[in-house]
Amino acid sequence: MAMLAAAGTVPGTPTKETAMRTTTHDVVVVGARPAGSTTALLLARHGLDVLVIDREAPGADALSTHALMRGGVVQLRRVGVLERLATGGTPAIQRVTFTYGGADEVVDLGGRPLYAPRRTVLDPLLVTAAREAGARVEHRVTATGLLRDATGRVSGVTARDAAGVVRHHRARIVVAADGLRSRIAQQVGAPMTWSGRASGAVAYAHVTGLPTDGYRWIYAPGAAAGLIPTDGGRTVVWTGSSSAAFEAGRHLGLGRWFARTLGQAAPELAEALRGRSDLRLRGFAGTPGFLRRPHGPGWALVGDAGCFADPISAHGITQALGDAELLSEAVAQVLRGGRDEHEALARYERQRDELALPVLRCVDAVATYTWTLPEVRGRLLELSAAMQAEAVALRERDHTAVPVGA
Ligand SMILES: Cc1cc2nc3c(=O)[nH]c(=O)nc-3n(C[C@H](O)[C@H](O)[C@H](O)COP(=O)(O)OP(=O)(O)OC[C@H]3O[C@@H](n4cnc5c(N)ncnc54)[C@H](O)[C@@H]3O)c2cc1C
Repeated sequence: MAMLAAAGTVPGTPTKETAMRTTTHDVVVVGARPAGSTTALLLARHGLDVLVIDREAPGADALSTHALMRGGVVQLRRVGVLERLATGGTPAIQRVTFTYGGADEVVDLGGRPLYAPRRTVLDPLLVTAAREAGARVEHRVTATGLLRDATGRVSGVTARDAAGVVRHHRARIVVAADGLRSRIAQQVGAPMTWSGRASGAVAYAHVTGLPTDGYRWIYAPGAAAGLIPTDGGRTVVWTGSSSAAFEAGRHLGLGRWFARTLGQAAPELAEALRGRSDLRLRGFAGTPGFLRRPHGPGWALVGDAGCFADPISAHGITQALGDAELLSEAVAQVLRGGRDEHEALARYERQRDELALPVLRCVDAVATYTWTLPEVRGRLLELSAAMQAEAVALRERDHTAVPVGA
C-alpha cells in the first residue's frame, strides 16, 4: 500500500524550529471532514497510498446543523458507515413536516429514515473508516502552501504540525477538501463557474427537553426555522432570515436576533424557549452559493471547497459525500487506470455540476427570503425533486461505475 511512502528527516536539520519531514504519496488530501475523509476512504479502497491532514483536533465540532438529505444517507450506506451511526444511537428520522404560515404538510419517509448525526459523531466515524481502508489521517497538521514542479504542476503541499515541524508532502494529486474558505482553491486560482445572488443568515442551538418526531421546516414571510433531532437526546433549533436582515439586526447581539427571528417564523417555538439560559447559540452571517472549477494540473477540489450551497438547503454534507464518490472514481481512473487526467477530472466536474446546479438554483431562490409562501413551497418541491435525482444517481453508481483500469 505505502509503496511510495518514504518519510524521513532531512539531514543537517538538528533543531526543532528547522526540523523538516518529507513524505511521498499517491494522493494528499487537505481536510478530514465529510469530503476529505470520504474521498480518502474511497481512494484507499482503490489501493492508493493516501495521506489526509487536518489542522483541527480529532473530533472537533463544526459549524453545522448536520441534517442529512437522502443522497447523504445513500452514500453513508454505500461506504459502510450508516450502520455504525444507527447502532451508535443517532435517532432515525421517520417523517418531515413542512409548515407554511401555520399549516402543516407531513411527509412520511415510509421506513427509509434520514439521520442528523452531530459532527462530533459523523466526522470521527468517517476518519475511522478512512483509516480502516488504509489511509493515513493526521490531525493538527496545517497545510501552509503548495509544492509545484518545474512545469508549474501542483506536486504536493507544505505543512506544519503541532510540534512546529515543517513538512513537505509530495503527491501525484493534491485534493483540497479544506472547506468553504479553501486556501488551496485561492492558491491555484480555481475560477468560479457559477455564483449565487442570495445568502441567508442562520443561528442555532442544541437543546434538551424539546422532543420532536422528525425534521420540521417552518416558513413565514421573511424568516424560517426548524427542528432537527440529533444525538444525545438533543434537538437542533435553528432560525434564519436574509443576510441583510442579519446585518441590520447586528446591534441586537446573537441571542436577541435569534429570539426575534424565531418569534417571526415560529412563535410557539420561541415561546417554548423563552427564558432558557442554557442555549449555546452559534451563528453564520451567510455567503452566496458557488461552484468553482474543481480541477487543474495536479489538483482537485471536493466538498465545500468547490461547491457551496446556502445552509438553508441542509445539503452541504450530502453534497460533500456525493462529490467524494465522483472525484475518487476519477482519480482512481487516472492513477490506477492510466486515464488522461484532464479528461477524467473534467468528467468529474460535469457529473458534479449536472447534479448540483438544480439544487443550487433552487436554494439561491429560497435564500432570498423575498418569496410568498406558495412560492417557497414550489421551490422546495423543486428542490426535493433535485435531491431525489441526486440520490438515485448515487444509488445507481453501484451498477454504472466504470471499472478502474478498464
Ligand atoms: C450554519 C451552517 C449550517 C449547516 N447545516 C447543514 C446541514 O444541516 N446539513 C448539511 O448537510 N450541511 C450543512 N451545512 C454545510 C456543511 O457543514 C458543509 O457543507 C460541510 O461541512 C462540508 O464538508 P467539507 O468536508 O467539504 O468541509 P468542512 O467540513 O468545512 O471541513 C474542512 C476541513 O478542512 C480543514 N482545513 C482547512 N484548511 C486547512 C489547512 N490549511 N490545513 C489543514 N486543514 C485544513 C478544516 O480544519 C476542516 O476540518 C451547514 C453549514 C453552516 C455554515
